[in-house]
Amino acid sequence: MSPDKKVLLPDMKAGCSLSSSITGKDVRLLKEKYPGVPVVSYVNTSAEVKAETDVCCTSANAVKIVKSLGVKKVIFLPDDYLAKYVASQTDVEIIAWKGICMVHDQFNEKEINDIRDKNPGIKIIAHPECPPEVINASDFAGSTSGMINYVKDNQPSKVMMVTECSMSDNIQVENPNVEFIKPCNLCPHMKRITLPKILDCLENETGEIIMDKNTIDKARLSVEKMVAIGR
Ligand code: SF4
Repeated sequence: MSPDKKVLLPDMKAGCSLSSSITGKDVRLLKEKYPGVPVVSYVNTSAEVKAETDVCCTSANAVKIVKSLGVKKVIFLPDDYLAKYVASQTDVEIIAWKGICMVHDQFNEKEINDIRDKNPGIKIIAHPECPPEVINASDFAGSTSGMINYVKDNQPSKVMMVTECSMSDNIQVENPNVEFIKPCNLCPHMKRITLPKILDCLENETGEIIMDKNTIDKARLSVEKMVAIGR
């Protein structure tokens, strides 16, 4: 998105299970198998995958983006659970991929029900990257921003956010009257980014991201299309 800027990554091993589940070649093969079917990819994908994508989406706008295409069938990549969530909210046939977020996949229905039994009156809100049975057992499903707004607007006395647990820490500061119950699932990739590594990166300009112009130009189109649909 900013090819004239220097972009540094504090730890080159900080990846994402969703992003590593699919390659540009996989997308090309899917397009061969389903000719003419538009490809919508979650932002947690590589630039190589975005370069093969018609339009990107976030968890907040995935349903809107899919509906906006006005077609009967969409290839939705790479999160299988988010694809199922989008399918449940639209009449569009979704061709999904087998990717999962290794953090959200750890939650299960029994854990949700146990927490509800132990905390009468609790509101349980889940990210759509969670398995469908977890979403069904929850009071609300929404993107990261959707969950933040739910807590701000409803001010429940007790809440559990079914997502990466650092998220609850951040929101707790802004909502001191809400008690957060936290079954903690941390993302090992996010936790690789530490303050000492950021300092080293800034002082020594290590970990620069270098990309070829062709991939940059192609990948940017799918992100720009998402932004245009959002306007
Ligand atoms: S929590 Fe970690 S694995 Fe899951 S989508 Fe985010 S970066 Fe990827």
